[in-house]
Amino acid sequence: MIIDWYPGHMKKARAQIIEILPKVDLVLEVLDARLPVSSSNPLLERLRGQKPCIKILNKKDLADPNITRAWLRLLEKQQQVKALALEAKDRRDVGLIPKLCRSVLAQRFKAGKPLRVMVVGIPNVGKSTLINTLAGKKMARVGDKPAITTTTQQIDLRNGILLLDTPGILWPVLDNLGGAGRLAASGALGEAAYATLEVALATLDYLREHYPQQVKNRYQLEDLSGAALSLLEQIGRGRGCLVSGGEVDLHRAAEMFLRDLRANKIGRISLERPTEDASAFDQYQES
Ligand code: GDP
Repeated sequence: MIIDWYPGHMKKARAQIIEILPKVDLVLEVLDARLPVSSSNPLLERLRGQKPCIKILNKKDLADPNITRAWLRLLEKQQQVKALALEAKDRRDVGLIPKLCRSVLAQRFKAGKPLRVMVVGIPNVGKSTLINTLAGKKMARVGDKPAITTTTQQIDLRNGILLLDTPGILWPVLDNLGGAGRLAASGALGEAAYATLEVALATLDYLREHYPQQVKNRYQLEDLSGAALSLLEQIGRGRGCLVSGGEVDLHRAAEMFLRDLRANKIGRISLERPTEDASAFDQYQES
């Protein structure tokens, strides 16, 4: 289903993280609140060791609030991890991050030392948006110091925190079909990277199980039983995705359905839930 793969990028990401980790005190890992497992990369967890980490469940506005709360509780059970759900553009939400950094690194902060923080995450998860909101108008680049290479320019947030101005980019793991499909559904992958119809069908199957009322409301359907394909056909017919002769254009219907999902038109939808998908975090425990 998924045709894209990034081994070269993975290698580069690994080298970059190994180089930068010793220079930071805390990692801000940005995850997608709708799919915290698939939007993470176990590489970071393996390399992070005992370094404190704040896991941001971003795009909380798109996710199911109850499921997000359950994820937060689960994530905080990991060692040296605090978790926070937010919307990267929301200054009030993002304003909680410096406070949390200072409490996690209380000793260092009290000693008057700068807290060096880096943002990491997979592409499209909202890293740049978050850095911009964090930096705001106070943004001031701190460069040209001998110890700081071009890849580690810093922004002085003037609240005790130095933020690396470029995020660390992790690449999503795409060798798990379910996870890759959820990443595709969320909009994290370019359209050339996946089969639209398959992703739409798998997502529709998930939604009818977990969010039946929202699907019924959005597409004015009364009965969600039957094959996902025939459901998509009904959805396509209802929305006028037709080709000449009155047949449903399934590809267009699939695209429309995924667009609706990403634009929150169906409702606040989480694509992964702790009860079903948390075991994937076990892989983090590998050496
Ligand atoms: P990056 O590749 O990780 O730096 O991601 P960007 O910051 O460029 O964000 C990718 C897309 O996600 C952009 O279209 C952002 O506007 C959008 N985005 C970022 N944060 C949020 C959020 O909290 N909620 C929503 N709905 N969209 C967001």
